[in-house]
Amino acid sequence: MEVIKRVSQMREFIRDRKARGRTIGFVPTMGYLHAGHLSLVRRAFRDCDEVVVSIFVNPTQFGPREDFGRYPRDIERDKRMLAACGVRVVFCPLPREMYPEGCGTYVDVPRLSRGLCGGLRPGHFQGVATVVAKLFNIISPDIAYFGQKDFQQACVIRRMVKDLNMPLRIKALPTVREPDGLAMSSRNSYLSRQQRSQAVVLCQSLKQAKGLIKNGEKSAAKIIRFIRGRIGRMSQARIDYVSVVNAQTLGSIKQIEKNTLIALAVYFGDTRLIDNVIITRDGHCVCPR
Ligand code: AMP
Repeated sequence: MEVIKRVSQMREFIRDRKARGRTIGFVPTMGYLHAGHLSLVRRAFRDCDEVVVSIFVNPTQFGPREDFGRYPRDIERDKRMLAACGVRVVFCPLPREMYPEGCGTYVDVPRLSRGLCGGLRPGHFQGVATVVAKLFNIISPDIAYFGQKDFQQACVIRRMVKDLNMPLRIKALPTVREPDGLAMSSRNSYLSRQQRSQAVVLCQSLKQAKGLIKNGEKSAAKIIRFIRGRIGRMSQARIDYVSVVNAQTLGSIKQIEKNTLIALAVYFGDTRLIDNVIITRDGHCVCPR
């Protein structure tokens, strides 16, 4: 497997593959991979001739009191997992390659970045949009893959691609879960045994909320109260937010609509976990299944 650290080398690789008419699928990650990341990789292999995965813990998307320093990193393990999926090239840029001295241009998608996680993590989506735009410019993918677990992130990236006429497609894929339903996340590795067993309440409460909606509940406030009540029973949980929004605009709504996102962020100790459920146009819900 080739691990590329330099932007110039990455560009060279891409130039060579494009000259041969190969299509490029791209999966941006922060590493410490799990089956959720690998589902994106597998899908990219189905769609494209070449798959590039990036591993970069992006400093600009972490707040000053967040977990940048202790974010889990294990590049050798990541490489083994990717090699087993058939990945032959991984882009692991050095921070100074991505943010050389003097750089000062940012990409902002303000309307979609304001609420949900963006409201509580100021600057987070500016950091995400900027690094993803840079990666798109370096890798020039035909298709880039994102997970629905980070639903707001996928919305921000789609908007950026549309607004800036970037020549690629974005695909967002369903959340991959542990057998008990907890959304897979690199941050799950921080959880103590007790926190891990309590964290299942996130997907369970979303699933139960989905059941209430199926049975006719229309009030967003009642859904929020229900989810807060369920999570509030867990001694280790501290709710950051529980929101019901329009899944396209991400604006708050009072009544459940056909295209609704229920999203939440909850701390277990210092570990902030997110999850969501989408109620689609035909009234069905996708994830948690
Ligand atoms: P991260 O390494 O956490 O920045 O995630 C890299 C990509 O993997 C993002 O597009 C995430 O949305 C996606 N991802 C993370 N967790 C999951 C999951 N459980 N299921 C599917 N995709 C995921």
